[in-house]
Amino acid sequence: MVDVAVIGAGIVGLAVARELLIRRPSLRLVVLEKEQEIAAHQSSHNSGVIHSGLYYKPGSLKARACVAGAARLIRYCDEKGIPYRLCGKVVVATSPEEIPRLEELYRRGQANGVPGLRMVGPEELRELEPHVTGVRAIWSPRTGIVDFSQVARAYADDVLERGGQICTGYRVVVIHQRSCSTVVETTAGDVEARAIVSCAGLYADRIARLTGAPPVPQIVPFRGDYYVLRPERASLIRGNVYPVPDPRFPFLGVHFTPRMDGQVWLGPNAVLAFAREGYQRTAVNLTELAEAVRYVGFRKLARKYWRTGLAELWRDFSKRAFLRSLQRYVPELVDDDLLPGPSGVRAQALSPDGELVDDFVLDRQPGILHVRNAPSPAATSSLEIARMIADEVEPML
Ligand SMILES: Cc1cc2nc3c(=O)[nH]c(=O)nc-3n(C[C@H](O)[C@H](O)[C@H](O)COP(=O)(O)OP(=O)(O)OC[C@H]3O[C@@H](n4cnc5c(N)ncnc54)[C@H](O)[C@@H]3O)c2cc1C
Repeated sequence: MVDVAVIGAGIVGLAVARELLIRRPSLRLVVLEKEQEIAAHQSSHNSGVIHSGLYYKPGSLKARACVAGAARLIRYCDEKGIPYRLCGKVVVATSPEEIPRLEELYRRGQANGVPGLRMVGPEELRELEPHVTGVRAIWSPRTGIVDFSQVARAYADDVLERGGQICTGYRVVVIHQRSCSTVVETTAGDVEARAIVSCAGLYADRIARLTGAPPVPQIVPFRGDYYVLRPERASLIRGNVYPVPDPRFPFLGVHFTPRMDGQVWLGPNAVLAFAREGYQRTAVNLTELAEAVRYVGFRKLARKYWRTGLAELWRDFSKRAFLRSLQRYVPELVDDDLLPGPSGVRAQALSPDGELVDDFVLDRQPGILHVRNAPSPAATSSLEIARMIADEVEPML
């Protein structure tokens, strides 16, 4: 019997395990991960941006966890010698119609306490990003980049150093509750624990169903494909360049992101993935696809946004359409500048009324805490999410 079993060795599960072991050094804790390695899914398939907290509704969990989480992450990287770069970000309005939404974003950023934000005009934008055009922009100097896989590995090292166990190749298949404990059956043996924390990302809803928690919100996977900017053209971009997001969706729109290895990634778009861990356009898991399409929330979302969905699908197949959306920001980009790049799949919770759930969601049962929605910026916010979760788990011990 252990004190805590954490399901999922992504960046969130590892951060939670680390935080609990820091608070309770004698805790017997295991992390159960179905893959042979840690951080194999969202935590290693993302843009690598340390978000500053600009976008999120003031007072939301995302707003609180992102601003505090980014500051803690930067301090952590300093302590551990993990490289990161505060290269800043511009959010660019390319037409006067976008200015009211840009201003609203600026107000949100200020309400959230994002440090150093400034509105800039076209001339200053040119000084910051000489190849980017726009009528107005928000400059966020404290936005950064990091390799989140490296951060997750450092959290894992902290867990192991503090006596925690990380069991890879342990897929959780059944969970039964007893009066004072929970038995987690995995493909590699059973584990009995006093408290369970599920941080299962793309399978968060499945694990919730195993413990009898409500089946909704269901996870709907949205794949994001990237192009990589031809290396000789990487100097077109200095920092992160983002569009003004569409407030109806939690996705931030295709952006330009410098990477720690010197590449520049362009994307990600957002299309329905036909498999939860399907990183290729051709990857299909019929059971998972049927589950998504049968879900009432998905049908409502599809009815409301079928035009946007089709346009996004078209842009996924047409490099020209993808290029056109990037040329709004960097007009001198040409077709040959875009090389095929990687993909990631977002675990996005969808409510039964067809709304993409915007905020982080935690769900509680006696002795069990489920992270039901931890999309972007959960990597940035991981240390702060871990603090919030540990506050709730400690009384269960
Ligand atoms: C395309 C993309 C771009 C993004 N960009 C950014 C960004 O720039 N900045 C940012 O802050 N965030 C970004 N994010 C979001 C961020 O990557 C995620 O919010 C974060 O990685 C979530 O971490 P997690 O640990 O919850 O999930 P995951 O990393 O997906 O980990 C979940 C783990 O649970 C395991 N698991 C699932 N089921 C079981 C089971 N039955 N038994 C055992 N283990 C199981 C999985 O194998 C996996 O390892 C992005 C995400 C995507 C997809």
